Amino acid sequence: MSEFMEKVAQFGDIEENVSFRKLTTLKVGGTARYVIYPNNEFCLESIIDICHDEGVDFKMFGNGSNMLCSDDFYDGAIIKLGRYFNKVYYNDYEITAQAGCSVINLAYEAMKKGMSGLEFASGIPGTIGGCVFMNAGAYKSSMSDIITEVQVYRNETTEWISAEECEFGYRTSVFQKKPWIITAVKMVLKPGKREDIEELMKDRQARRFATQPLEFPSAGSVFRNPENGFSWKYIDMIGYRGMKYGHACVSQKHSNFIVNEGEATASDINRLINDIQDKVREAYDVELILEVEKFNWK
Ligand SMILES: Cc1cc2nc3c(=O)[nH]c(=O)nc-3n(C[C@H](O)[C@H](O)[C@H](O)COP(=O)(O)OP(=O)(O)OC[C@H]3O[C@@H](n4cnc5c(N)ncnc54)[C@H](O)[C@@H]3O)c2cc1C
Repeated sequence: MSEFMEKVAQFGDIEENVSFRKLTTLKVGGTARYVIYPNNEFCLESIIDICHDEGVDFKMFGNGSNMLCSDDFYDGAIIKLGRYFNKVYYNDYEITAQAGCSVINLAYEAMKKGMSGLEFASGIPGTIGGCVFMNAGAYKSSMSDIITEVQVYRNETTEWISAEECEFGYRTSVFQKKPWIITAVKMVLKPGKREDIEELMKDRQARRFATQPLEFPSAGSVFRNPENGFSWKYIDMIGYRGMKYGHACVSQKHSNFIVNEGEATASDINRLINDIQDKVREAYDVELILEVEKFNWK
């Protein structure tokens, strides 16, 4: 075990040479040198210090459900909170959830307690941290509708910041501009009837299965919707629904999804993305902005 690994192992679990196929829902990409699961907040801070001291680059990952990692080796550490930062605390209709919690699990727990407001998130396969970072949303609702405060680790201190300071917008937040780590979130839900909440969640789930290619690995919607329009319509208009490079395919079911039909490479997916952006720009003078995040691309 290297000296770096020995130091980190005091503060959490550390694994070496882990494929991004295991770390992302798209199941493509090269290998990460290290994956680290900190034990708690104090350990997270110590691990960040060790990375800084040893010159090891690091990147936070939630469930990897919005990531397109290149096929290259990443000579750094992926830090994941899901293993140990997954406690949830309830106080009337206020929920405090640690950043590694699954949002789908949280939506189901809230439903069982007769708490309404998280129904929109019951099909989003991310962690609380990743969903705050992205201000994830669906059906005209988003995380920012229910968040009151976010706990962040920044400038070597852990503190609570207000929802205003998070600068939430359509799939955007301040966290996309600052190297802050989200460690927990406070949300306020409303009282609701369990049966009604469950019914709505079932309805939403059925709609997802009918309209999204959930049978294949993907990272959800590839592009943000442009103002006054839908990305999928532009992709259809350039004739790219069903377009394939190797095992990377623009989904027949939902053309704003690119799916991995087996052994797709990140490069194949990236070629599809670039081609779509070029063709839509040329034909319609519209810039399709990525919703999926590219990581470890030169
Ligand atoms: C089938 C499918 C359906 C989807 N449907 C939707 C949908 O309806 N609506 C929607 O908005 N999205 C959807 N997504 C996309 C994705 O689930 C969301 O973007 C989600 O918010 C990503 O969460 P994650 O935990 O997987 O984050 P990751 O993909 O792991 O990371 C995303 C970003 O967040 C950062 N991050 C993660 N955790 C932290 C942390 N603790 N502190 C600081 N930064 C952090 C990462 O560094 C990265 O930059 C879907 C994806 C799939 C595969």
